[in-house]
Amino acid sequence: MDLTFGKEELAFQQEVRDWLKENLTPEIVGELKVARNAYLPKERLIDWQKRLARKGWLCTGWPKEFGGPGFTTTQKYIFEMEMARAGAPGTSPFGPKMCAPVIMKYGSPEQKARHLPPMLNSDLIWCQGYSEPGSGSDLASLRTRAVREGDYYIINGQKTWTTLAQTADWIFCLVRTSTEGKPQEGISFLLIDMKTPGISVEPIITADGNRAGTQEVNSVFFTDVKVPVENRVGEENKGWTYAKYLLEFERGGNPYSPRLRSSFERLKRLASSMEEGEGSILADHAWREKLARMDIEISGLEMFEQEFYSKLASGQNPGPLSSMIKLRGTEVMQQVQEYCVEAAGWYSMPFPEQRAWNANVAPIGPEGVDVLAPRYFNGRKMTIYGGSSEVQRGIMSKVMLGL
Ligand SMILES: Cc1cc2nc3c(=O)[nH]c(=O)nc-3n(C[C@H](O)[C@H](O)[C@H](O)COP(=O)(O)OP(=O)(O)OC[C@H]3O[C@@H](n4cnc5c(N)ncnc54)[C@H](O)[C@@H]3O)c2cc1C
Repeated sequence: MDLTFGKEELAFQQEVRDWLKENLTPEIVGELKVARNAYLPKERLIDWQKRLARKGWLCTGWPKEFGGPGFTTTQKYIFEMEMARAGAPGTSPFGPKMCAPVIMKYGSPEQKARHLPPMLNSDLIWCQGYSEPGSGSDLASLRTRAVREGDYYIINGQKTWTTLAQTADWIFCLVRTSTEGKPQEGISFLLIDMKTPGISVEPIITADGNRAGTQEVNSVFFTDVKVPVENRVGEENKGWTYAKYLLEFERGGNPYSPRLRSSFERLKRLASSMEEGEGSILADHAWREKLARMDIEISGLEMFEQEFYSKLASGQNPGPLSSMIKLRGTEVMQQVQEYCVEAAGWYSMPFPEQRAWNANVAPIGPEGVDVLAPRYFNGRKMTIYGGSSEVQRGIMSKVMLGL
């Protein structure tokens, strides 16, 4: 495979670099450096997303007809690579990358007109209401009830692990509209305004040391929440089809390798700065071998993802290949996080004080080591959310290997 960029691609790469110089402000970089998870506080996240939106680069995967930039596969890859290299924050995926493809494919013209432009401009933030207590991997067993009363559904139940629900303006939800037949046949897909009376959000505190206010995940409770029937996407009781389509984008919506590559480069810099004996820990043969193996893993994923994204560009669905990418991407990322903690040794304290990004206090040890352990703990989520690794292996063995 020829991976050298042509003249136009190099020009695009320069355009992204120039834009980053202007827009990746010290505040955004600083806030991200001290973050224990991948998310910025709300105002900073919106500031960053609006900058991308003004340039037309927030919804990079959207087709041109809906306002997307119409990137080629290589441009998308270059874009992700430059963002990762510069240490730019991610964006909230729930609206633009997850709900949007469902609205584009199955939504009504009114839903497209109402919901897609605010996503494109980062005017509204979304969250995902799939999982419930007892319904995660076995999602079809979900019990949040939606009972039709005239032009409304009345919703009662609980969603859990809802990422950034405290920040979100809207939630897309799977609800049970029928208890007849197979569980998959009684589910509907609803778009719900988080300000609707009867919705409450409670933080779930996780092992990364985030506190209420900066939490990543939440429980969302629905008590007699009135949702207009016009907010249902597609047909009643057919939500499972739309839910599965969305999951393909959740698992394969973004390449892992650019961020993996830049995390790996940071790991190498960290390892070469950690002294041991007369040199760095890289003098250790075992360390060099570990890093070489990881380099090979990431290169393999890079090749695979480039092929995968060129398939998407030609209009194909991600399909079960997204399970392969999610599985390898998340497992290798966890390995990088583990090696970072190992390389930093005693500097990677498990429960460091949360520092403000602009605090006038120097961290102990080399720059960035204070968040390594919280990020390691936070990163354990990657092989659980969006379907656990065991579930991805199950899909691959069934759909790809026919077992
Ligand atoms: C940080 C974080 C953020 C999340 N964000 C969201 C969100 O925004 N919105 C949302 O809806 N959900 C979210 N989730 C929920 C996530 O999708 C579920 O946690 C996940 O689907 C697993 O479900 P569960 O937690 O109920 O575990 P369970 O399904 O109870 O699984 C427990 C264990 O059993 C294994 N297992 C289960 N079924 C099988 C099987 N068939 N074969 C083999 N092994 C199996 C699993 O791999 C796992 O190890 C988030 C989760 C985390 C951790």
